Amino acid sequence: MKKAIYPGSFDPVTYGHLDIIVRASKVVDELIIGVLVNKQKKPLFSMEERLFMIRETTRGIPNVRVQTFEGLTIDFARENDARLIIRGLRAVTDFESEMQIAQTNHSIDPEIDTIFFTTSLEYAFLSSTIAREVAYYGSDVSKLVPPVVAEQFQKKFHQDS
Ligand code: ADP
Repeated sequence: MKKAIYPGSFDPVTYGHLDIIVRASKVVDELIIGVLVNKQKKPLFSMEERLFMIRETTRGIPNVRVQTFEGLTIDFARENDARLIIRGLRAVTDFESEMQIAQTNHSIDPEIDTIFFTTSLEYAFLSSTIAREVAYYGSDVSKLVPPVVAEQFQKKFHQDS
C-alpha cells in the first residue's frame, strides 16, 4: 500500500495545489494532505476554514484524506506510516529550498523519499499569496481558486460591499 503525504500551508488551496493533488492521487493508494499549523505565521484563513476548503475541493477523490499537523513534516509522515512526501515545483526559485528540505528529510529518515511534481504550465505563476492579493483588490479569482475558496474570499474581504 503506497501512502504519501502532501504537506503545506494551503492558505488557501488553489488550482495549482489541486492539480498536484489530482496527479499525486493517481500514483499512490492513499494521499494525506497535511495542513500545517505554523505558529510563526499568521494565516489569512483559520485552520477550520482551510480544512473546510480543501475537503470541499477534494470531495470527489476517494483516496484523499485531509488533516492538520504541527512540527516536522518527517514526523507527520512517520506518524501516518507514509514513506513518500509530495511537493510541487513551480520554477527554479522553488528548487533550491525544496531540495534542501528534501535532503534534510532524507538524511533524518532514509526510508522516506520526496517526490516532486512539476507544475502544469497554466499554474506556474500561481501561489496562495498571488490568489490572496488578487482577491483582496476585488479582481476575478475564478481561474485561480475553486469556487468554495472564491466564496470564502468574498466573505473575508468584501462582505459588506
Ligand atoms: P508551503 O508553505 O509549505 O510552501 P504551500 O501551501 O504554499 O505550502 O504549498 C504546498 C506545496 O504546493 C509546495 O510544494 C508548493 O511548491 C506546491 N505548490 C503551490 N502552488 C503550486 C502551483 N501553482 N503549482 C504546483 N505546485 C504548487
